[in-house]
Amino acid sequence: LPRPRAVRLTDDDVAARLEPPTDADDKYSRGVVGIVAGSATYPGAAVLCTGAALRTRPGLVRYAGTAAAGVRAAWPEAIVTEGRPSDAGRVQAWVVGPGMGTDDGAADVVAEVLATDLPVLLDADALTLVARRPDLVRDRTAPTVLTPHDREFARFGQDVGADRIGAARRLAADLGAVVLLKGAATIVAAPDGPAFVNGTGTPELATAGTGDVLSGIAGALLAAGLPAAEAAATAAHVHGRAGQLAAEGGPLIAGDLVRRLPRTLARLR
Ligand code: AMP
Ligand code: MG
Repeated sequence: LPRPRAVRLTDDDVAARLEPPTDADDKYSRGVVGIVAGSATYPGAAVLCTGAALRTRPGLVRYAGTAAAGVRAAWPEAIVTEGRPSDAGRVQAWVVGPGMGTDDGAADVVAEVLATDLPVLLDADALTLVARRPDLVRDRTAPTVLTPHDREFARFGQDVGADRIGAARRLAADLGAVVLLKGAATIVAAPDGPAFVNGTGTPELATAGTGDVLSGIAGALLAAGLPAAEAAATAAHVHGRAGQLAAEGGPLIAGDLVRRLPRTLARLR
């Protein structure tokens, strides 16, 4: 049989990847997510990303960064440090980038996380930083997921163009990473295997902070042990469904997605 170029996950496919915990689980077996996001002046991205990770039911979320005070106030469930990622304690996957800025301190933190042998998701400012240092991604053996929108994608040297699947595939192959190309039609491509075309969502998602929520969802799924491309595609599907649910109540803001995640997950199974 010819291999399909792209597949679209169904609600059932996604539900099968979101198994509820069992008697055998404890908080460590369910996954520990590490998040580096936000800044003292922009804590919002960190709050949204951390909340989304918590609501995707990992065992534990650890936050390390300069928005620590805001994250601590918003989410008492998270374990928060103002220190570096290496001060955060053991994690099983990292999410790095939303709202963190692109100064030398941010660049150091991105390099530190990429030097681990853990799955890493790079978004927003972390994408700007690795576009200058693609070797940091290419040299990794653990999975890396990049979640650019079209303008962030272009920082890697080529515009997205009309063929979004082809563009995502090319960057994935070039970097040896999973690329989740965001937009009305979100694509997930890996260096090999079929791409995923997301089938959920609403234009109401075109509002500030929704990408930070997507990163948190995907990070929790990476920490839970899903293969990187599946974690990314599953996250995009769940994020789109949460957006659709939130939009039933009228225009949405990013925090509405976090608030709708429990019901979104409950409906998918
Ligand atoms: P960001 O650009 O990082 O804030 O992320 C925006 C999020 O909203 C991504 O998940 C996009 O896929 C989604 N999004 C943006 N515009 C649209 C649109 N017109 N239709 C559906 N989803 C969108
Ligand atoms: Mg963004």
